[in-house]
Amino acid sequence: MLDLLIKNGLTVDNQCLSIGVKNGKIEMVSPTINKEAKQVVELARNHYISAGWIDDHVHCDDDMPIYYDQPDEIGIKKGVTTIIDAGSTGADTISTFYEQIRKAKTNVYAMINISKIGIIRQDELSDLHNVQKDLLKKQVAALPQFVIGLKVRLSKTVVGENDYHPLLLAKELQTELNDMPLMIHIGSNPPELSDVLSRLDERDILTHCFNGKENGIVDKQTNKIKAVAMDAYKRGVRFDIGHGTDSFNFHTAFCAKEAKITPYSLSTDIYHRNREKGPVYDLATTMEKLRLVGYPLTEIIKMVTEHPADNFKLAKKGQLRVGYDADITIFDVKNGNKELVDSNGNKENTSELIVPIKTIVGGVLYDI
Ligand code: ZN
Ligand code: ZN
Repeated sequence: MLDLLIKNGLTVDNQCLSIGVKNGKIEMVSPTINKEAKQVVELARNHYISAGWIDDHVHCDDDMPIYYDQPDEIGIKKGVTTIIDAGSTGADTISTFYEQIRKAKTNVYAMINISKIGIIRQDELSDLHNVQKDLLKKQVAALPQFVIGLKVRLSKTVVGENDYHPLLLAKELQTELNDMPLMIHIGSNPPELSDVLSRLDERDILTHCFNGKENGIVDKQTNKIKAVAMDAYKRGVRFDIGHGTDSFNFHTAFCAKEAKITPYSLSTDIYHRNREKGPVYDLATTMEKLRLVGYPLTEIIKMVTEHPADNFKLAKKGQLRVGYDADITIFDVKNGNKELVDSNGNKENTSELIVPIKTIVGGVLYDI
């Protein structure tokens, strides 16, 4: 007997899909399943089903002073089954962060900040003595199931006088840690965008890719994508949204779409304040914004499922396949009217709403 049977959902390619779950794993995937189950959810083709949504840039260490939140507030309550904290903590605090998230119902992973103090202050990389490689490697080795990436923040307020030098240390650590996934935050210069992007490789994750800053991917004079950004994109650097309070701009997004740039992953950079007061609110709202810019829903779902899973080598997540973790999101796409606001106060109206209604994590069902 199955533990859970979800019947007659609709995929974003308009296929009918049923999923059977047992022991927290996906046991059956088929258009129709007629099998006994302890719990049955009948969707009657009125609702969409996808692999559980993954938000690969959040801040959810409740003990941090600036960017903090509670995992389930941005996870299961928002249709998100897995969240990846983007460097809130470094080697000093990552073990206490791990102890704290173990009570969350949402799956939580972390990138470790290359600065041992994490984002305890805005300028965690203004003193490079905060990058202690041996200490960092020791903490990564101690929590292999939790620490799945490295994070480096490269903008003026973070690096002080150090320009792009923290990136060189991050790239060294990446190599020494067996090509560990590396997420790079960009913002105001220095460092110059060209000094950052020219040093990134295929699979490196560039977050805040659609920010509206002078030092962003769009040349403000011509409204074209800067050559260095196009080069990085074509080289296979993965563009990640990382919306945040300050880093998503509709104009940049429209210019990128025009230039045929598709972000690889769609994330929120959410924490308590931009969740409660906007402009982020949640992952679904960020998805609505990308939809408004013109990316198809089929692509957007990949940006929150199989792509972030691949970014961080989560081998059993991001797809509805037999043997994978039973992490599933059920949602509606419906007509409505909603004002969407970017990080710079620019407004657009959408008539297509994305509304999560049930979150399933490891086979456990939560109504939203
Ligand atoms: Zn950032
Ligand atoms: Zn962030």
